Amino acid sequence: IESADRIYPPEYEGHFSRLLIKREEIIERATDLAKAIHNDYKGKRPVLLCVLKGAASFYLHLLEALQDLRQGFYTEFLRLSSYEGAQTSGTVKARGGLHYQDLTGKDVLIVEDIIDTGTTLSHLLPVLKREANPKSVEVCTLLTKRLQTPAKCEAKYVGFSIPNQFVIGYGLDYNELYRDLKDIWVISQKGIDFDPHKLHG
Ligand code: 5GP
Ligand code: MG
Ligand code: MG
Repeated sequence: IESADRIYPPEYEGHFSRLLIKREEIIERATDLAKAIHNDYKGKRPVLLCVLKGAASFYLHLLEALQDLRQGFYTEFLRLSSYEGAQTSGTVKARGGLHYQDLTGKDVLIVEDIIDTGTTLSHLLPVLKREANPKSVEVCTLLTKRLQTPAKCEAKYVGFSIPNQFVIGYGLDYNELYRDLKDIWVISQKGIDFDPHKLHG
């Protein structure tokens, strides 16, 4: 049965094991986080640095909530990845290099989709601090995973702490699929095994 909050492209039928977080809950949580951020950055103009592509949806809702609070900010975007499929590759690739506006002396708030092992951020943070010379750097992540070993990097602002399962949707992908889902789901074996070439017939 499909209700309004359980909709997805029909070709994804069977690709999830369960619905984890609805978009409405995410937006609500983004509003809470925006309040905390506004409280900390009142009178400042942080650079909200969106880590593409996974954080894009969260970033948009966070910006909207900050606008409603009349919090000023700069926007910036960065593309990097440490993942191949559902396995972390351990190395972080910055695609197209690290190109920023001048961040010297600015308060930077990195906006991430998910912190898993923390490898990605533990590589990015020192590079950013060394090469961009910002006044401060903090992290806001939509998701963190509850792992046996603590992540190498922790965020100041966290949306949801989730079980150690691979999630998709609301910008998060598996091999570039599933970013188009409005909600966050746990992927199923069928979703992992799916051959995207079938979509392009
Ligand atoms: P970390 O370096 O913290 O291990 O992993 C961070 C990155 O891996 C995230 O920014 C995200 O791109 C990817 N990642 C980690 N766990 C998941 C997951 O459950 N689902 C998806 N779609 N991506 C994940
Ligand atoms: Mg990410
Ligand atoms: Mg990814």
